[in-house]
Amino acid sequence: MKKIKFLILILGLAGCSFQPYHKEARLMLGTIVEITCQDRAAITSAFEEIKKIETIANNFNPDSEISRLNAAGKIQASQDLYNMVRESLKYYRLSEGAFDITVAPLVNIWKEKIREFENKKSSPYQGEAGRGKSRGLTLPSESQIKRALSLVGSDKISLDDSTSSMSFTQSGMSIDLGAIAKGYAVDKAVRRLKESGVRSALVNAGGNVYCLGKKGSRKWRIGVRHPRKPAEIVFYLDLENQGAATSGDYEQFFILDKKRYSHIIDPKTGWPVDNNISSVTIIAPDAATSDGLSTTVFVLGKEKGLELAGKMDGVEVKIIEK
Ligand code: AMP
Ligand code: MG
Repeated sequence: MKKIKFLILILGLAGCSFQPYHKEARLMLGTIVEITCQDRAAITSAFEEIKKIETIANNFNPDSEISRLNAAGKIQASQDLYNMVRESLKYYRLSEGAFDITVAPLVNIWKEKIREFENKKSSPYQGEAGRGKSRGLTLPSESQIKRALSLVGSDKISLDDSTSSMSFTQSGMSIDLGAIAKGYAVDKAVRRLKESGVRSALVNAGGNVYCLGKKGSRKWRIGVRHPRKPAEIVFYLDLENQGAATSGDYEQFFILDKKRYSHIIDPKTGWPVDNNISSVTIIAPDAATSDGLSTTVFVLGKEKGLELAGKMDGVEVKIIEK
């Protein structure tokens, strides 16, 4: 009897020292951003960092720094915009143009199409019309794609490290940081958490995650969605001081005549990537690397993608084929 009491006391004490985890979610960067850790004030402070990146990289806000760059063709950039563009140019070179933030004009065309399909799908007036072309929806014209393609090429971005200024060497160009901004923002938030003394946290910006330390005695466990069965987890990742991201053809897409058109564009053709991959998950030492590389490998395809990722330190790749 005495022994049992002693055990209960020990458990009780251990319970007293356990700090509960708090999770806060906000709509930011066009997705849901969640931060989990044991310090509420640190969470609030980390969200400020995410907000800062949103203010810079939001193409939908005409006052954002990226919109001002796209409108003027040049800018004296903030350090964060400069870093994101610099990092993007690294993936552009490594992938020989598969990752290219100047695909923005093409992204606009295809995302507009995705929206058209979404609207049609939810319209109560579509009646019998049903699927794809028969509903009056068509693909973009070749001339439209050709025009946009003529504005693509990150070698036409000029950077000046000494002044952090950048400019486009062709008028009408624009950039889209959708493939890297979330990972970059996650890393910024993690840095702020660390400055606040946090040693254990999970930051998740729409599937771009970083796991700081462990959760208790275990690594953080992250479930990755099945690309075709949204309710199913296809595998789990156990992570500690690592980032992870998934790029897939199931996030934004439409299907026309049984063919899937997604939001990730092949800058060589101007069309959505058309290979055998439905999702790429990258585990890397930081979130920006996993974000940048997951998009890159998705565009490059399995063989070239694995070859590139294989040259990078601390990187693991998981590809799900169609
Ligand atoms: P992610 O979900 O990180 O793979 O990023 C996909 C987003 O990156 C798209 O929604 C576009 O905004 C942008 N994007 C599409 N194709 C490319 C590409 N080839 N290179 C760089 N960014 C791209
Ligand atoms: Mg990405």
